[in-house]
Amino acid sequence: MVKSRSYLYCALATTLNIILNALTFKNFLWLEGRVRGGKFRNWARQFGYRPANFIEPETEEEIVNLVRNGRKIRFFGSGHSFNAGVVSDETLVSLDKYAGFVKKEGDFVTVKGGTRMRDVVKLLLDDYGLAFEALPSHDAQSIAGILSTNVHGTGRDWGFVGELVERLKIIDGKGEIHECGKTDDLFKAAIGGIGAVGIIVEVTVRTVPKFNVEQKFGLAPCDEVRNNLDTMLQDNHHLSLYIFPFATVCQVSIWNPTPNEKSFLNELREFIAISFDALNAAWFGNLMAYTGFLPWSNWTYGIKRGTNLVMESNKAFNRSIYHLHQELEFTVPYEDTWTVCDRLIKLYEDMYKQERLPYMLLEVRFTPDGHDNALIGAGRGRRSTWIDLICNDSRRFEKYYAAAEEIIKEIGARPHLGKYCESLDKDHLQTVHGASFERFLELMHEHDPEDKFANDFTRRMFRD
Ligand SMILES: Cc1cc2nc3c(=O)[nH]c(=O)nc-3n(C[C@H](O)[C@H](O)[C@H](O)COP(=O)(O)OP(=O)(O)OC[C@H]3O[C@@H](n4cnc5c(N)ncnc54)[C@H](O)[C@@H]3O)c2cc1C
Repeated sequence: MVKSRSYLYCALATTLNIILNALTFKNFLWLEGRVRGGKFRNWARQFGYRPANFIEPETEEEIVNLVRNGRKIRFFGSGHSFNAGVVSDETLVSLDKYAGFVKKEGDFVTVKGGTRMRDVVKLLLDDYGLAFEALPSHDAQSIAGILSTNVHGTGRDWGFVGELVERLKIIDGKGEIHECGKTDDLFKAAIGGIGAVGIIVEVTVRTVPKFNVEQKFGLAPCDEVRNNLDTMLQDNHHLSLYIFPFATVCQVSIWNPTPNEKSFLNELREFIAISFDALNAAWFGNLMAYTGFLPWSNWTYGIKRGTNLVMESNKAFNRSIYHLHQELEFTVPYEDTWTVCDRLIKLYEDMYKQERLPYMLLEVRFTPDGHDNALIGAGRGRRSTWIDLICNDSRRFEKYYAAAEEIIKEIGARPHLGKYCESLDKDHLQTVHGASFERFLELMHEHDPEDKFANDFTRRMFRD
């Protein structure tokens, strides 16, 4: 009974999101974090609470005063993270009204922290014919939320939105304004620091002239991918994998810049393809999972059709539509990719035999060495593989995630602090980030001496 309610909820919520998005010509997403009638809900509507105060400042001065006169404050962008980082002990602040263009100097464009990625992208393209060098998979988040959780994509030479950032303006817990650049430690603490050292209010990004990307999605035998992964990564600018339990095929997604013209009706075809994928995962994936047919589902992947489209780069990297789901993500050294993926797939398959879990897949992405601008970034200082456990449900994923977090602790994997992090804590971050974490804590105490930005989540992660 609980399973069927949860199945229907997930499928119907996904369907409604797609319908509303289509009817509003992609202007409205129902599944977004927002405050309505005094109640905050995150994008997955998995948790909600009533903040004591809710404020939407419109000027920098208002933000400074808010911090100077406030006691406990948390900021949120679009509530697209998967944990309670956005919950405030007292005052919840949205930067939705502190958004928009500030200035352009050469290739550098400055925007306010609350600006949504889809709006930054549109502004760059429509007004200046510019684009980001690359982007992660989704465009609804605020640019400050993206940087505060050190959002990554996948790439041979590129991996993080933070790498495209030249300068940040930060208001710290004392209400002081700091302008900092890539080499400043405060910059490195803010990128991935989930708001613990200050509020990101302005971001200056490096841009490139707009370009097209050839996007190819297709299925391949897992063994073939496993044997050729090094070469495939070398031959393509951006590559990611979907690995499915009980399956001998996996999905390979590839994006490469191209001089070719955009494909005919590329945006419509992309919208249909991603809507189909989301509906398929929500309705069919979970149906297979809950009825116990998942071990025999290998054949169903044969139905899945690949796509091959040339699109404008932002549209190819960033998608708007997605099914209602949960994510738990972490990094391991590239060399450990298959050992850890195999372990997590086996964990799911073993648990599934005991109890029907929701449908799950691993999204596997890759970032290069040399990412040194985030003190507690999961992809810091080494070539990394990102393993994202995507559970296609808004309920009943917790048992699998709890067991997966035990593996994360055992192998010393580094967590993505924008994703589900239920049992991980300060001791774990200390173990996986060492001296870099110590430096982060020093800066947090220096810039937020009265713990104004702390909440239960950051207390577990950063405080004793
Ligand atoms: C469908 C989907 C796809 C995703 N794809 C990716 C992906 O490809 N790669 C990836 O790495 N992650 C991805 N994520 C994770 C997620 O988008 C990010 O972690 C990001 O935080 C969300 O931005 P937001 O504006 O919604 O931030 P929120 O969820 O609102 O906030 C995130 C954290 O940052 C803090 N914060 C918010 N604004 C500020 C500010 N101005 N200053 C300081 N701190 C602030 C908040 O308090 C909170 O702790 C995805 C999530 C979803 C739902």
